[in-house]
Order: sequence, then structure tokens, then C-alpha cells
Amino acid sequence: MILLNDFKRRWAELGDEVTAAFERVGASGWYVLGQEVRGFEQALAQHLDLGHVIGVANGTDALEIALRALGCGPGDKVLTTPLSAFATTLAIQQVGAVPVFVDVDATGSIDLDRVEHALREDEGLRVFVPVHLYGHCLDLVRLERLKQEFGLKVIEDCAQAIGASREGRIAGSVGDVAAFSFYPTKNLGALGDGGACAAATEALASAIRSLRDYGQTSKYVHERRGLNSRLDEVQAALLNVFLPRLAGWNARRRDIAERYDAGIRNPLLTPVRPGQPGASVYHLYPLLVDAPEAREPFMSYAREQGVQTAIHYPILITEQGALRGSEIHCLDELSQAKDFARRVVSLPIEPGLTDAEVNRVVEVANGWGAPEEKGA
Ligand SMILES: *Cc1c(COP(=O)(O)O)cnc(C)c1O
Repeated sequence: MILLNDFKRRWAELGDEVTAAFERVGASGWYVLGQEVRGFEQALAQHLDLGHVIGVANGTDALEIALRALGCGPGDKVLTTPLSAFATTLAIQQVGAVPVFVDVDATGSIDLDRVEHALREDEGLRVFVPVHLYGHCLDLVRLERLKQEFGLKVIEDCAQAIGASREGRIAGSVGDVAAFSFYPTKNLGALGDGGACAAATEALASAIRSLRDYGQTSKYVHERRGLNSRLDEVQAALLNVFLPRLAGWNARRRDIAERYDAGIRNPLLTPVRPGQPGASVYHLYPLLVDAPEAREPFMSYAREQGVQTAIHYPILITEQGALRGSEIHCLDELSQAKDFARRVVSLPIEPGLTDAEVNRVVEVANGWGAPEEKGA
């Protein structure tokens, strides 16, 4: 089976280095907020060329802490996308804010035209959590213009887009804060949970450092109510092993995407492309089947042919039971997002795939819907 994520393959390659990193932490006798976390924060800041990086427990907390650091709280309206991991909206609700949804565009990411329209219509809407979905980088020039024109607070959800760039700018460089996740499936994945905030200013960075650590400003001094949301030394040590590989892994993901783009020639399957060619780190390789009824049969066919597929995402955030009874706003019909939820399917694109496996995925995709070859 060609898997969406083949963690064992990565372990076979890097297990020895990872074990050595684990032993280093064990022998150090220091397990929380020590030199591994500091080293990783600095290395990631340098790698992404982003000001201040603060390690936290996971991507959801990174978003919540970022919102809190920006002073977003109960009753504040926060503009975001209905097509994402549920965590994006969960974080908004965790601070008591009210999620406000607009539709996505043909790339599956939030439609910045609609965002601009919404901002013009409602002066009370001044916090924005855009998501670089699937690893596709949003138009950062446009995002920055919106931020300036409307005086927005922006938190970029970069959980799927670490290292993605567009027109020479990196995802996470426009927002007041960028949120990252190191959940194992992400492009930079730990062996468990992890996350980080990248803050544009030292003031925000110090608020975030305090918020991840019970709201402490110094030992036993609590100026605000914080979380316990620290990145473990052990996970940071493992991430220090993986980070130097990230650029290579992302390059391999792009290479596989190019092979799929060039090879998949099936009118029943339409790849979901980034807003600009190359402006993606392809956390996923999503495509749209021609009709909602075709999705399940396509996925079973692929499974029978030895290719695992998945859906990102089958249920719009606005339709999740967890939102029942809470205040949310939808500013339009969300019809494009609904269409994605019914027709989208992801193909395997993890960097450990061999060329032979990539070719096989292309062959399977091209074989879908073709008349069975009949022997003479
Ligand atoms: C994974 C993910 C998150 C949440 O990250 P966790 O580390 O699992 O908490 C948030 N937003 C998006 C877009 C994600 O893909």
C-alpha cells in the first residue's frame, strides 16, 4: 500500500539520530524549557527568517496563545475560513471570540476578495486568521495590503505551510503572529505533539512566552492567566534533528507535485493548484473528483489498486456539531467550500515516496473511469 504518511520509513532512516537526541535529553537531567527548546526556537527563526519563535505544546495552542497575546477575547469577531482543520476555529472559540466565515476560492483557501468586501462592510471585524491550506501560500502581498489598509490583527495559520513562500516572501512573515504545528503528519513533524508561534515584535514574543508558561512573567509571578503549553525538551531535540531536513523534504514534495501535475491526465480528476505555480510546500495533494457520488468509488478503487487516499475536509467547520449553540456568522453561502467538502480527495505526497511509487499513483489516477481492458 502506498501510504499518505509512512512514519516507519522515516524511523528506519533517522531512528539512530533520533535515539541519540533522546539520550542527550535524558542524560541532561533537564526536561522542560531548556537548551533544546531554545536551540530549536533560534534555528527555526533563522531557517524561516522570522523574528521571534516560541515553542508551544501544539498548533491549536499556538493559535489560541497568539489570539490572546493580541488581546482578542470574548465577543470579538474573527474572520476565518470554513475549510480547514477544525483546530483553527476551535482556537478562536477557546478565547471566547466569534468566528466569522467567508467562502474559499478555487484554490480551496479563503477568498481574499470576499475578505476585503467583509472588512469594508463591517468595521467591527478587525482580526483575521487566514490558513495557508494544503501548504499553498496565500497571496502575501495582498494580505499585507489588507492588514495595513484596515489596521487588521493577523494570525497566519501556517500549520500546513512551514517553509512555503510566494514572490520571495515566506508564509508567516505578514501576520503579527504565525502559528505552526509539529503534529506528526505535518511537513515538520515531531514524534508526538508540538507547535510554535512566530511573533513579529519582541513585545508580542514576551507575551507569548509568558502565556505558554501559566502566564508567568518571572518565576512564581503571574501577571495574566496563561496556559500550560510548553514544547517538551524531548520533542525539541527531535525537531532539531528533523529541521535541517525540512528544505529537502519540501523540495521532494514539490517535485512529486510536479510529477502529478504533469502525469495526471484524467478529465474526471482536477488537481487543486496553489494560487501561484510553485507557491506551495504541498502538505497535501488535493484533487476534485467530477461529482460528489464519484468520490467514494474513486477512493475504493484507489485502495484496491494499492493507493491510500483521504479527505481534507469532509465536513465544513460551520457544519460541525461542536459549533451548535454557539454564535457564528457566515457572510455568504460558502458554496465553493461546500463543493470542496463534497468532492475533494488527497493523494499521497509524503517525501519518502519513491519515484516508482509516484509513477504508480499517476497510473492509478489515470486508470480511474477508463473502460476495463478486455482480453481478446
Ligand atoms: C494541524 C492543524 C492545526 C492544529 O495543530 P495541532 O498541532 O494538531 O494542534 C491547526 N490548523 C491547521 C490548518 C492544521 O492543519
